[in-house]
Amino acid sequence: MSPPVFRFAPSPNGYLHLGHAFSALLNFDLAREAKGRFLLRIEDIDPTRCRPKFESAIYEDLAWLGISWETPVRRQSEHFDAYRKAVEQFAAQGLLYPSFESRAEIALLVAEREAVGPWPRDPDGAPLYPGAAKSLPEPERQRLIEAGAPYALRLDMAAARERAKHLSWTEQGEGPGGEHGTVPARPEAWGDVVLARKETPTSYHLSVVIDDDLQGVTDVVRGQDLFWSTSVHRLLQALLGIAPPTYRHHRLICDSAGQKLSKSTTATALRELRAGGATPVDIRRLVGLS
Ligand code: GLU
Repeated sequence: MSPPVFRFAPSPNGYLHLGHAFSALLNFDLAREAKGRFLLRIEDIDPTRCRPKFESAIYEDLAWLGISWETPVRRQSEHFDAYRKAVEQFAAQGLLYPSFESRAEIALLVAEREAVGPWPRDPDGAPLYPGAAKSLPEPERQRLIEAGAPYALRLDMAAARERAKHLSWTEQGEGPGGEHGTVPARPEAWGDVVLARKETPTSYHLSVVIDDDLQGVTDVVRGQDLFWSTSVHRLLQALLGIAPPTYRHHRLICDSAGQKLSKSTTATALRELRAGGATPVDIRRLVGLS
């Protein structure tokens, strides 16, 4: 049997903090215990937020923690063609439609809906897409695209669900509500999610699913904040004919106010802690790993 494959997949849009250290160390430890492989993947699909200095800092901080990984590292920005192929498949299956509203226009539509009653929100708390782009006539879509209008390619969730029903995943960790074992996927809770944009042929959901498959990842170990994203990942896997890995969502490291750590808070950044004299052993202790 081939060895299990674990991965840590940060985005280089800020410095790593204690929460990242926990996730990376946990993946690394589990891989070692299981005599498995440990991969590092750079999730840099967003050129407006990702910076080379943050990517260099990821390598530096992880090496300082005593973590080693296989090379070459997969950098998502170098694989847009693989994601584009999946987008083309979904488009050919009639599962995608372009929506043209700006973020401000969407906010206005949501406010209009909420003026008359509650409007559903996704598991992250963002309102579901309220627009009518799904029923835009084809010539109008073509006209807008040819005129250079920006757009998002959304998954027609109802049509996608028709093709892939009764999905679930194996959870070895725990969801925010204590979910464990076989967890039923509820992708419809996310509405018509964005899978790509005019200027970026992919999205977090799409590239994570494709890469975990291409890299042979068997065990996805990541923070509980991504627990319900797994519903979307299961749906995309089913549509693409990909066998799902096992999932293990772990507790999040919070600050003293009980808030999830953010890349914009410098106090818990690994490089700040290191500059203040912390050792890798201190970091392990701080995140509750022996
Ligand atoms: N790139 C994601 C992040 O930095 C993590 C992706 C994943 O583990 O699935 O939050």
